[in-house]
Amino acid sequence: MSERGPHGVFGGTFDPVHVGHLRLAEEAREALLLERVRWIPAGQPWHRAAPQTSPAHRLGMVRAAIAANAAFEVDGREVASGRPSYTVDTLTALRGELGDAVSLVLILGADAFALLHTWHRWRDLFALAHIGLATRAGQAVDATTLDPALATELAARTGSDARVLRERPSGAIVRFDMTPLAVSATDIRARLARGERCRYLLPDEVFEYIRLNRLY
Ligand code: ATP
Repeated sequence: MSERGPHGVFGGTFDPVHVGHLRLAEEAREALLLERVRWIPAGQPWHRAAPQTSPAHRLGMVRAAIAANAAFEVDGREVASGRPSYTVDTLTALRGELGDAVSLVLILGADAFALLHTWHRWRDLFALAHIGLATRAGQAVDATTLDPALATELAARTGSDARVLRERPSGAIVRFDMTPLAVSATDIRARLARGERCRYLLPDEVFEYIRLNRLY
């Protein structure tokens, strides 16, 4: 196993990026002892309606939001690809670059995890990365409401100890508690459209980016 700490991988639409995303990444970093967190904005998400804002601006907002955190970095590969990107392909490419030894941890909120069985080649994800699973805004993962195949993987792969992330490069699901923050990009878009400034829901740098570029 590599001497390097596990690397977090955090994908999302980020339309716009908000404090819920920032706390999720930071609390994952602290709870799972991640060396760094790589933020990967989706270009054209394949699984949901087209974002309101262009990929380049969503990337720009993430850059602005994370600039002050030395453990965060932005990865523009999905935005640059210009076509729908699948996480399995992105993780395969990252593995090719980082090698087989480094531990990768895909960070997911509980709502995103509950849809994992709908992702392209979702079972292949476990050979590429671990999953760091957060509880979002009181939505605990209730295995009885999950897709049965996903519930089976969850039961087989969940361990309580984040040390597993340093012992092997992929394959485990580690849960961590996250401060509940009922903030969503959908709600923020509606507020911005009404002319609200959304102070403290978004970093000031992101609001400034939105204002300068006349987004939302
Ligand atoms: P939308 O409201 O447009 O659906 P969103 O705010 O849920 O957007 P996404 O970009 O779809 O943001 O989310 C990326 C990831 O961040 C997902 O794993 C999601 O579960 C997680 N996430 C988003 N908001 C929060 C939050 N308030 N607390 C914890 N996790 C969150």
